[in-house]
Amino acid sequence: MKLFIPGPVQVSDKTFAAFCKPMMGHRSGDFKRLYGGIQPRLQQLFQTSQPVFLSTSSAWGVMEGAIRNLVGTGKVLNCMCGAFSDKWFDVSKRCGKEAVALQSEWGQPIRGEQVREHLKQGGFDAVTLIHNETSTGVMSPLAEIAEVLRDFPEVRLIVDSVSSFSVVPIPMDELGIDVLLTGSQKALAMPPGLALFAASPRAMERAASVKGRGYYFDFIEFQKNQQEDMTPSTPSISHIYALESKLDDIFSEGVAARHARHEQTNALVHAWVKRHGFDFFAPEGYRSKSLTCVANNRSVDVAALVSNLKSRHGFIIDGGYGKLKGKTFRLSNMGDETLASVGELLAALDDCLKA
Ligand SMILES: *Cc1c(COP(=O)(O)O)cnc(C)c1O
Repeated sequence: MKLFIPGPVQVSDKTFAAFCKPMMGHRSGDFKRLYGGIQPRLQQLFQTSQPVFLSTSSAWGVMEGAIRNLVGTGKVLNCMCGAFSDKWFDVSKRCGKEAVALQSEWGQPIRGEQVREHLKQGGFDAVTLIHNETSTGVMSPLAEIAEVLRDFPEVRLIVDSVSSFSVVPIPMDELGIDVLLTGSQKALAMPPGLALFAASPRAMERAASVKGRGYYFDFIEFQKNQQEDMTPSTPSISHIYALESKLDDIFSEGVAARHARHEQTNALVHAWVKRHGFDFFAPEGYRSKSLTCVANNRSVDVAALVSNLKSRHGFIIDGGYGKLKGKTFRLSNMGDETLASVGELLAALDDCLKA
C-alpha cells in the first residue's frame, strides 16, 4: 500500500530506519549534539535567524499554543476558508480568547484586503492564517497578507505551513511572520507526532507578557531550553533522528530543487485533471503546490474510485474532506514524490476511471 492522501504521507525506509535508532537521555551530550547539530539547517529552511523549536505534539499543539502565547486580552482574527482554518477559530474560543471570524467560502483564498478591513476595527492581538488549506487545496497569498500586517504593528501574524513547508519558499523573517509552524507528517514526510516552529522576537516579547500560557506549550520554556539545545520535556527522540535524516535528504537534493520538484509533480497532476475534463476546486492562481483538490464535476463515483485504486493498485487517495466528500478528491504530491511516482498514481487512476 502507498499513501497519496494529503497527510500522513508515505514515509521512506531511510526515514524509518533513522526513526528506529536507539534511545538516549534527553539531557545528555549526545542529545544536545543532535538537536544543536540540526539547528542551522532548520533555521535555513525556516528562513529565519531565530531558533527553531521542536514540540512533541501534532501541529495542533503549537496551533493552540500560539493562541495561548500571543493572544492576551485583545482579540484574535481567525482567517477561515476550510476545515483546518475553521477549526482554529473554535480552538481560539476554547482557549477563552475573544475570537473574530474572517470567513471565506471553502475553495476561496483569504485576501489581504479582507484582513485589512477586519484589523481596521482595532483591538486585535493576533491573526491566524493557514497558508495552504489542505482540505480545499487552496494556497492563500501569504506575502500580500503579510504586507497588510505591516500597517498593524501591534498585531502578531501566526502562520500554519503544515502542507506548504519546504514545498514553496516561506521567508519568515523577510515577511515579518511572528510564528511559523509546521508538522512532521505532511510536507516533511515523517511519521506524525512532531511539530516544528519558530517565533519572532516580537512574538516572544508578547508571550512574556501574556498570562495563562500553561506549561507544555509555553514558548518561554521552549526558548530557555533551546538555549541549551534541549526541549522543555522529554521529546520524541525518534522523530528528531528522523528529522536529521530528512534534513540530510533535503539539503542533498537542494532546497530550490525540492521546490522545483514539487512544482513539476504538481503540474503533472494539473495536466491530468485538465486532460480528463475535471475542474479544480481552487481558483487559478491560488492552487496548492503540494496537493490537488479535484472538483468532481464529472460526477464519477468517488467512493468506488478510491476503493478500486486501493484494491487494484495499492494506492490510497482521499475522497474529499468532511462536507466535500464525494464532491472532490485529493491527490497529494507532498514529501518524497517524484515525476515517476506521481506518474504511476495517474496511470492507476486512468485504469480505474475507464469504465
Ligand atoms: C493536517 C493539518 C493540520 C493538523 O495537523 P495535526 O497533525 O493533525 O495536528 C493543521 N493544519 C493544516 C494545514 C493541516 O493540513
